[in-house]
Amino acid sequence: MNPTQRSAPAPAVPLLDIGRGNRSIRDEVLRAWEEVYDSGRFLFGPAVERLERAVADLSGTRHAIGCASGSDAILLALMAIDVGPGDEVIVPSFTFFATASAVWRLGAKPIFVDIDPKTFNVHPDLVEQAITSETRAIIPVHLFGQCAPMDVLADIAQTHGIALIEDAAQAIGAAWHDRPAGSWGLAGCLSFYPTKNLGGAGDGGMLTTNDDALADRLRRLASHGMRPRYYHRDVGINSRLDTLQAALLEVKLRRLDAWTESRRVNAHRYGELMEHAGAADWIEVPFESPNARHVWNQYTIRVRGGRRDALRQWLAERGVGSEIYYPVPLHLQECFRPLGYQRGDLPATELAADEVLSLPIFPELSDQEIQTVVRAVAAFGSRGLSAAA
Ligand SMILES: *Cc1c(COP(=O)(O)O)cnc(C)c1O
Repeated sequence: MNPTQRSAPAPAVPLLDIGRGNRSIRDEVLRAWEEVYDSGRFLFGPAVERLERAVADLSGTRHAIGCASGSDAILLALMAIDVGPGDEVIVPSFTFFATASAVWRLGAKPIFVDIDPKTFNVHPDLVEQAITSETRAIIPVHLFGQCAPMDVLADIAQTHGIALIEDAAQAIGAAWHDRPAGSWGLAGCLSFYPTKNLGGAGDGGMLTTNDDALADRLRRLASHGMRPRYYHRDVGINSRLDTLQAALLEVKLRRLDAWTESRRVNAHRYGELMEHAGAADWIEVPFESPNARHVWNQYTIRVRGGRRDALRQWLAERGVGSEIYYPVPLHLQECFRPLGYQRGDLPATELAADEVLSLPIFPELSDQEIQTVVRAVAAFGSRGLSAAA
């Protein structure tokens, strides 16, 4: 090796490198796509049915129903229980927009509740306090790949006769007390958005449920409420999982366990190295509940003392990718202003939005890259501490 190479800065570490995972399965995917192409069955092809079966098995549910996106999965679940004007649906504010927009689009009212600061997931006590006579459903989100406390939430939902719908978009393969994400509620909503743990080559989603009648209704609603052809009992939507997506996802699903395991190894390696580097004194590494099988869609630290944005900038200057999931809580989004929420209403959510930073965690990340990230984080910390001294 020549000396200039040795003294060169550490190479960049992207937040996510989709290409690495995709390259390893390229030939298999192209063969699967060729088969779909030649068959001409671009909708309702056999790969869709096979994927639905496989995802139902993985999720421990009787049914899985493909649809066009995770956002549509949530919308369809709410449509299937006839949520509409005058209804309230309890959701976290610290989540991706789609959790609440589905509620809004049906003319119902999202009721935002605060989180448990340790897990970033909805706090069950606050969920229970938010229940009124108008509450129709609770949508907990398994944020970053760790399940919300589903045993407690299922009890609450049952006691009050309210539907429980899981936003499991970030949590395929996760579990709570060994019971899979998507099998606790009336329905589970999965996303195959490219950055999710099982990511497609575009949009895709799926619903899981143990309820036969609901499964049937979901399937009908996803197809214009039509059955038989050109007879419409409900006003549904057009939301389908393409055969080409399903064929790719089938190939990827066979690797999901191994990829999830790599994410877990990476997460634990971060924890160990952050501790060793002394960074754990001024950042908070993610809390992993002993009840959860965390699938690490994101590795999200907290940066105390108002230094999150400076750390992000520092990392960017050193080629380390990071992202803020999510910078603006939903209760403070402009579009939800008519709901009347104000800053201060959900303090734990608002603090999280100011402190969180997600670091690279994708399965193919090398140990060297993890070390590069931790070194960069630690260097910021020691610089900050000596500046403060
Ligand atoms: C990604 C995501 C969705 C939406 O999924 P799409 O497939 O992008 O529509 C919903 N909820 C959460 C928490 C997500 O992360």
